[in-house]
Amino acid sequence: MSLMMVRFSMVLETCCIEKMMVSSLMDAYSYHLDMPVRTGVDLGGTKIEVVVLQDDEILARLRCGTPQGDYAGTLQAVAELVSQAEAKAGVTAPHVGVGAPGSPSPFTGLQRNSNSTALNDMPLADDLATAINRPVRLANDANCLALSEAWNGAGAGQGTVFAVILGTGVGGGLVVDGALLEGCNGLGGEFGHTALPRPTTDEIPGPTCYCGLNGCIEGWLAGPALEAQWCALGRAPLTATAIAADTSENAKDLLDRWLDRLARALANAVTLVDPDVIVIGGGLNAIDAIYDQIPGMLGPLVFGGGCSTPVVAASHGDSSGVLGAARL
Ligand SMILES: [Zn+2]
Repeated sequence: MSLMMVRFSMVLETCCIEKMMVSSLMDAYSYHLDMPVRTGVDLGGTKIEVVVLQDDEILARLRCGTPQGDYAGTLQAVAELVSQAEAKAGVTAPHVGVGAPGSPSPFTGLQRNSNSTALNDMPLADDLATAINRPVRLANDANCLALSEAWNGAGAGQGTVFAVILGTGVGGGLVVDGALLEGCNGLGGEFGHTALPRPTTDEIPGPTCYCGLNGCIEGWLAGPALEAQWCALGRAPLTATAIAADTSENAKDLLDRWLDRLARALANAVTLVDPDVIVIGGGLNAIDAIYDQIPGMLGPLVFGGGCSTPVVAASHGDSSGVLGAARL
């Protein structure tokens, strides 16, 4: 080896060592920034769930019912559950991520668009921060689902993940290259309050929604909507998943109409965003017909007539929301 080559090799080696030092410092910094102890809250319409994570390990998880229509009681319940979960885990997170229906308005800071209407027009993020006594990061519950499924769930490794909640309400969230697409109005991925596309004459104007508009997808596809459509046939009340499992002709016809509406709605999302995967969460994601039939129904409904988008169930089950909240 010539002297010049030895010097070049030494320079390379020094660079490598410096790079390793910088890299290791950056890793330490990222690790610190990553705040390995994370507390997440899923503030749902019927239940509140808290999870405490260290890296990806669940140290504690607790649930309680949501006080119905009681804003102050809801704040207190969240604060108490966080305190109990962190005491059980023996750690305290520096901030708390909260997923809730609706989102804080970027114009007023007040919660809006929540189907838990007691939260609407309230300074939810500020009030939660006061109740929990530390910073709170508040996001839409469907965005939390999208984050957790894109992180290490059914959308892991995909560039654009469109996650949909089909449950008491209908919501959606978009994650692009690991980041939430929240939008300048905070409405990114708000699937449930777009109108049912290509309506038939008997679907116009559609049900009136609590949001003030008519014909929202939520009013057609949410669990309570399907249950109401079933009761309108003069049948005894059943849950949405029980209707999907019922073998009567009435139930099969109703499920077919529900699937057709879901396919029309998802086809619009595909034509607009063209995600790499559609992940379905919420209680109605247990309906197998979604995965058996919807992928084949999308092709004729999207622009150009071809669609290979996978439609898959959320892999974290009903914990997707709380795990995503912990990632906020
Ligand atoms: Zn609506």
